[in-house]
Amino acid sequence: MSSATSVQNDVEQCTTETVDVAIIGAGPSGSIVASLLHAQGKKVLVLEKQHFPRFSIGESLLPCCMQVITEANMLEAVNQAGFQFKNGAAFRYQDKYTTFDFTDKFSPGPGTTFQVERATFDKLLADEACKQGVDIRYGHTVHSVALSGEPSLEISNEQGQTQTIKAKFILDASGFGRVLPRLLDLEKPSTLPTRSAVFNHVRDNISDPNFDRNKILISVHPDNQDIWYWLIPFSDGRCSVGVVGEPHQLAVVENGLDGDLDQLLKIMIDQEPGLKKQLANAELINQSGLLKGYSANVKTLATDKFALLGNAGEFLDPVFSSGVTIAMQSASMAAKTLLKQLNGETVDWQQDYAAPLMKGVDTFRTYVEAWYDCRFQDTIFFDDPDPKIKQMICSILAGYAWDEQNPFVSESKRRLDMVVELCRS
Ligand code: FAD
Repeated sequence: MSSATSVQNDVEQCTTETVDVAIIGAGPSGSIVASLLHAQGKKVLVLEKQHFPRFSIGESLLPCCMQVITEANMLEAVNQAGFQFKNGAAFRYQDKYTTFDFTDKFSPGPGTTFQVERATFDKLLADEACKQGVDIRYGHTVHSVALSGEPSLEISNEQGQTQTIKAKFILDASGFGRVLPRLLDLEKPSTLPTRSAVFNHVRDNISDPNFDRNKILISVHPDNQDIWYWLIPFSDGRCSVGVVGEPHQLAVVENGLDGDLDQLLKIMIDQEPGLKKQLANAELINQSGLLKGYSANVKTLATDKFALLGNAGEFLDPVFSSGVTIAMQSASMAAKTLLKQLNGETVDWQQDYAAPLMKGVDTFRTYVEAWYDCRFQDTIFFDDPDPKIKQMICSILAGYAWDEQNPFVSESKRRLDMVVELCRS
């Protein structure tokens, strides 16, 4: 070999790397899928543009996701991290208050979970994946993708060095970064209207002994049922608090607030008497954040060269805290399908991955739509619920939206319509 060819090969080696699976993003879906594939002997590389810990919204988990955490062999680490225990959800509208105890549900599986600060939680999952042997490269941003022939990604690090990653398959776990939907023109408008959220962490100083820190509290604006609030207690005397509404309802300029989101959040909290009382002594910790138009959809979730996980696929709405559970479920389902493909079996990504994943997403969609047209709100605040029906609905709120044994999953719309009719009549 001539010395010129050897130099060329060396350069080629440092600028091009080949793996089985390239994963974009080290959030919950990225870390979990990387762990599951690595455990089956696949060479995976996770590219993460930020450094952990980093802030992320989405702090209330659902019990169903504990199954996937267990699959990825991360349960012990999560259990020992000191996160706030969670056993259900509470809902409040005017003087009505109702709770769902996730251990009293129809579907089998865990009935409790945690409320987590995502900076800590996501780092813990990523660190666990690394301990298992997964290669995660922080500060590496994916810029472009090529799918003709062997799939490849163009990436760069923070020193501006670029590299090509060749892979048999690409998994996009980039969350709201939505890397492949943008690069491959897969974006499709969500069927849900545009909504915004304003949020912060507070030192809550809640002294009310009846306040249940083991549940997320969803409260509804007393005069406008389109607007709702979350209050997610953490284990250290802090809470995540946020308000969701249509953009004009949360517009700082229209409300004459000159861009002051902290003031807007406070005004909105003060409009819900229960929350105003509970947070009377609360102190804001960070600068309030604003997310607008977070609902997103795609034309396709997967082909034989790539699959979209979690928020990189469809994101519905935060009202039932389903985001991380869907992200983890997609990671588990994609890993199973991809392992078959990498092991030489024929797979149909639509039938084996997209359709089963969408079953659960569509179940949540039924409930999200019914939340905003108030039918679901009427149902949960109904005075005398049938205990069996409540258990079936509770299963869905606990994240078991893929359990076809549950009639409220297999025929989610028809069954919910039926219950709404009963409650309203
Ligand atoms: P993410 O956690 O977003 O991770 C994606 C990662 O990809 C990031 O670390 C990012 O840096 C990286 N990345 C992006 N672009 C690139 C690139 N070009 N190159 C390399 N890396 C890249 N869910 C819940 O379960 N419970 C809740 O209570 C909840 N509340 C919510 C409230 C609001 C207002 C909103 C909008 C969402 C909420 N969610 C909630 C949803 C939740 O935030 C997401 O569903 C979840 O974080 C998705 O996880 P993920 O793994 O898909 O992506």
